[in-house]
Amino acid sequence: MKRPTPMRAMLPVVWLMLILYPGAHGHAMELPTTAAVPGGVVVLDLDDSDHAAPRARYNGSRVMTVSRNGRWYAVVGIPLQTQPGPQRLELSRNGYSVGFIPFRVRTKQYKAQYITLKNKRMVEPNAEDLQRIRDDQRRIQAALHHWSPTQPTTLRFALPARGRFSSGFGLRRFFNKKPRRPHSGLDIAAPRGTPVTAPAPGHIIETGNYYFNGNTVFIDHGQGLITMYCHLDRIDVTTGQQVQTSQLIGTIGSTGRVTGAHLHWSVSLNATMVEPRLFIDKP
Ligand code: ZN
Repeated sequence: MKRPTPMRAMLPVVWLMLILYPGAHGHAMELPTTAAVPGGVVVLDLDDSDHAAPRARYNGSRVMTVSRNGRWYAVVGIPLQTQPGPQRLELSRNGYSVGFIPFRVRTKQYKAQYITLKNKRMVEPNAEDLQRIRDDQRRIQAALHHWSPTQPTTLRFALPARGRFSSGFGLRRFFNKKPRRPHSGLDIAAPRGTPVTAPAPGHIIETGNYYFNGNTVFIDHGQGLITMYCHLDRIDVTTGQQVQTSQLIGTIGSTGRVTGAHLHWSVSLNATMVEPRLFIDKP
């Protein structure tokens, strides 16, 4: 029998690994609710109990891989503009392709929403505004593409604010009858000053004031899972800060393109905005 290292000698190493990587072995990580639709999330079994996960990519972006009960899974965000039909997740090891996993995206019809704004510059910005919007977009995209290797501690979120769900994710939007981009988050309406809290542990990767989004905070939860909080009245965190579940990050306000005080909450996986309700316990 080939056994170069006696089992007893290995045990301290195994224990050390369990201490260092509490999320990687044995722990049944909570996964999001799945929905193989545009704006949804799919969880794909990588059929691989190897020590290290293969690297997964979808639409050119790196995809989260998590270990659950000793197996590896990819957690994939599907863009709202995806055409229903066959899709594939690309897998590689050490830079070499090791195959792909096919999956199917079904159709989902999102409702239209018509909004009237008194401030016309929020619908048809002037040249100066457009330059600022382009600069904002670069910073927002950089935040959404942020990748940190740490596996998130959970994929089940606490609600970031108490309030009424006033506009759902994915609504096809018309501002003053003009078609604009679909609603990429969940709106929670509550009075100005209502606390906004972190839904899970993470660290602050960006804060700022943006033309449409107003005062905004971005939290990185690990492996491309980024959450975004917009229209804040006050920001109570700074870039680089660690936050824990339910820790105050700011307060609800009406900064940016709004019709009243609310929190716009976006959840992004592989640089793709997905339905936040898939990550909360009662979707
Ligand atoms: Zn919104």
